[in-house]
Amino acid sequence: MENRKSVALVAHDNMKRDLAEWVDWNWEVLLKHHLICTGTTGKMVERTLRDRRGKEFDEEAVDIVLLKSGPLGGDQQLGAMIAEGKVEAVIFFWDPMQAQPHDVDVKALLRLATLYNVPTAINRSTADFLISSPLFGSNYCPVVKDYKSYIERTLNQ
Ligand code: PGA
Repeated sequence: MENRKSVALVAHDNMKRDLAEWVDWNWEVLLKHHLICTGTTGKMVERTLRDRRGKEFDEEAVDIVLLKSGPLGGDQQLGAMIAEGKVEAVIFFWDPMQAQPHDVDVKALLRLATLYNVPTAINRSTADFLISSPLFGSNYCPVVKDYKSYIERTLNQ
């Protein structure tokens, strides 16, 4: 893992304001990383960074990829990226007060983040701990379980 990380940012609608505040607070650190966002969250993140940097905002300086909107498949795209080892941290402010049309996708995304041992923050305080950890700027490499025996067992059934 390089010092420059691929960081996923996602927020459900009722949590977008929280994420915007968090991005505004952490903009300098975030600009050093590659950001991957679901569609609507990504637009909000871009706007927040632009507002923060004002006239000096350099579009080129923001390394951000916008996936599809979450309910339209963005969470699934992000899950696939996790399975491919392309995401090194996940900040996902999901809404604990409202069911989502794509709840199954959300669950799948969080499952893959857990399976691949990707550092994942699901609320603001954990996101604060994560981004302020010395490991965030280091080349920390999470251990991923070896599932070879699981695959062999399944094949030999
Ligand atoms: P959005 O998706 O960023 O497109 O709103 C977020 C989500 O619900 O996963």
